Amino acid sequence: MTVMERALDAQEMLQLWEAGRNRHPLDRAVQVLSASSPSTHAPGLPSVDALQRLSVGARDARLLEVHRSTFGDRLDGRASCPACAESLEVSLTCSTLLAAGDTSEDDRDTAHLVVVEAGYRVTFRLPDSRDLAAIATLAEVSEARALLLQRCVTEVARPGDADPGAPPEAVVLAVAARMAEADPHAELLLDLECPACDTSWQAPLDVTLFLWARISGQARRLLLEVDAIARVYGWREAEILALSPARRATYLELAVG
Ligand SMILES: [Zn+2]
Repeated sequence: MTVMERALDAQEMLQLWEAGRNRHPLDRAVQVLSASSPSTHAPGLPSVDALQRLSVGARDARLLEVHRSTFGDRLDGRASCPACAESLEVSLTCSTLLAAGDTSEDDRDTAHLVVVEAGYRVTFRLPDSRDLAAIATLAEVSEARALLLQRCVTEVARPGDADPGAPPEAVVLAVAARMAEADPHAELLLDLECPACDTSWQAPLDVTLFLWARISGQARRLLLEVDAIARVYGWREAEILALSPARRATYLELAVG
């Protein structure tokens, strides 16, 4: 499945920023996809509910597509070394991250995954944005994991056993491993190495965080441009935002000239 998310325009960027700035990152992610999915506004195609039901990895893959089409392929960020606190620049590309998971498998049925382990047969689906929202406020990792499993596991069975009860740890781990394998973009890990002390470690990449930083930076720049152009020409905000980026940049140059 290849969904080409289209680039966000100036108007959409500002609307997203305004609507999302006091919202939880999970809501922001869905808002961005709702604005950028070419199919959202066509009849019978993804609603907000459908976007919330995307597996976490499928959602993040689409957010990477939005980043690539709107801001370009490069992701630039900073990380600090866990050993010596040295700050280092991290630069990678959306394409590399997208290629790291086998997206050709996106089409298979991820709502009915099955693991057979230690005599148990567990049927489950992949975690999505609704599941992450449900566990977001839990402080204990063990509590969060238990609730996630409770939400995603649809059936636990043992042959000849009417009430199989809670599956043992080995089965739970097998389910977690299968979830990760089936949703390769759900946890994007970066391999980092500190130039100062040679420590190497892995850090998770929060795609929503990266994308939102770009959206809010761009929104602020657009507002400054509107302000500068409106002061000189007296045009309305909507008129200025409707200009092509090239015309807006030129009027801005003339306005502040
Ligand atoms: Zn270091």
